[in-house]
Amino acid sequence: MFVIWGWGKQTRKVVGKVGNRMCNYCNVESIWQLVIVRTWFTLFFIPIIPYAKSYQISCPNCKSFFALSKEQFESFRDQTTDAAGVPAMADAGKYQGKTETQVNYLKAMEEAERKE
Ligand SMILES: [Zn+2]
Repeated sequence: MFVIWGWGKQTRKVVGKVGNRMCNYCNVESIWQLVIVRTWFTLFFIPIIPYAKSYQISCPNCKSFFALSKEQFESFRDQTTDAAGVPAMADAGKYQGKTETQVNYLKAMEEAERKE
């Protein structure tokens, strides 16, 4: 039996927009995207484990990009309107299918945990 595995497959996830920007490469002004790039260990060409993560702002037209540090990425993300909804959506998923009483209870428990 032989196993086909590899390193270096990359996936890009657009997590927000950073506003209008003129691109130096394609000379098109458009709304640049805030992107998380993950590099994967693959097995049979299927991404299994992400082992590297990097951050970019990217031209949606030609996909050229600037690399960002995590701090820069976080500050960009704070400014984007799209990303503002992300924590709220995560919360919505977590509390899905629960009654309001249960949700309030869970939130109170989380609050208590934070104070300890
Ligand atoms: Zn471009």
